[in-house]
Amino acid sequence: MKTEKFLVNEGSKLDLKKHATDYTADYSDKKKAVEDLQKNVAKIRELQEVLYAEGAQSLLIVFQAMDAAGKDSTIEHVFSGVNPQGCHVVGFKQPSAEELAHDFLWRCQKELPERGKIGIFNRSHYEEVLVVKVHPEYLGAQRLPTSPDTDKNFWDRRYEQIRNWEKTLVANGTQIVKFFLNVSREEQKERFVARIDEPAKNWKFSMGDVKERALWADYMKAYTDALTATSTYSAPWYVIPADKKWFMRLAVSEIIVEKLKAMKPQFPVVSNEHKAELAEAKKALLSEPSA
Ligand code: ATP
Ligand code: MG
Repeated sequence: MKTEKFLVNEGSKLDLKKHATDYTADYSDKKKAVEDLQKNVAKIRELQEVLYAEGAQSLLIVFQAMDAAGKDSTIEHVFSGVNPQGCHVVGFKQPSAEELAHDFLWRCQKELPERGKIGIFNRSHYEEVLVVKVHPEYLGAQRLPTSPDTDKNFWDRRYEQIRNWEKTLVANGTQIVKFFLNVSREEQKERFVARIDEPAKNWKFSMGDVKERALWADYMKAYTDALTATSTYSAPWYVIPADKKWFMRLAVSEIIVEKLKAMKPQFPVVSNEHKAELAEAKKALLSEPSA
């Protein structure tokens, strides 16, 4: 699969109209995609193990999407093979009073993956230029020195703060890849109706989801501006077609495999001194008197 198709190139303006939400590349149905996803799940597991053993680099994976696009299930499927000890998944909801008493990156900084780990952000610092941009009244609770009313470049400065933060992370060993799961408005409606019709899915539905849906155009504008401003060579955004869940999961897994391979994790090299210690330990173990 050619994953560059989904990449938002640094410096180019994203045009969501050019990203079909139901695109499935050469896959005509689910069967082959599920098989290929399983192969990628296994590869992610292998590469993650080396990353962990190496203990020098980490990978941060960001997921953003409208409600019901499938963030949760993508995370569940793509990382189903990964050793839970090697990854850290965190969801970001409305900020707490404590979080609002700090700068907007604080709560994300605290959850970054340590060396050797994969960090998964289910929603992220990008909410601060998405939902907050659609609802600028939320900024009041942040008690900031400036606002979009007093500074016409307020949002551009936020994009810049995010770019700088991510640049610092990459320079310090945390690689970053960001996914926008791009579902159509029509498909979202069908999934909402299914959540209402099927009792086992009722818990997933909230009236707030319908309110945000009514602001669809504002959200698409916010996504377009944010992705255009923050897709960089070292922390790129990918726009993933999300109407067919099986294709979405496969595409995400493919990009993660590519990223992990590019990071070239290596098992630590055993020094001659350590090799001698290992030989010594083996000798001692084998010569233990039997109990
Ligand atoms: P799901 O619906 O799949 O359980 P979710 O991520 O949509 O998962 P919810 O509890 O439904 O979780 O919604 C979280 C809400 O919090 C979203 O509407 C999101 O936009 C909002 N949110 C996240 N970060 C911020 C933020 N910094 N400021 C304001 N709202 C935020
Ligand atoms: Mg929700």
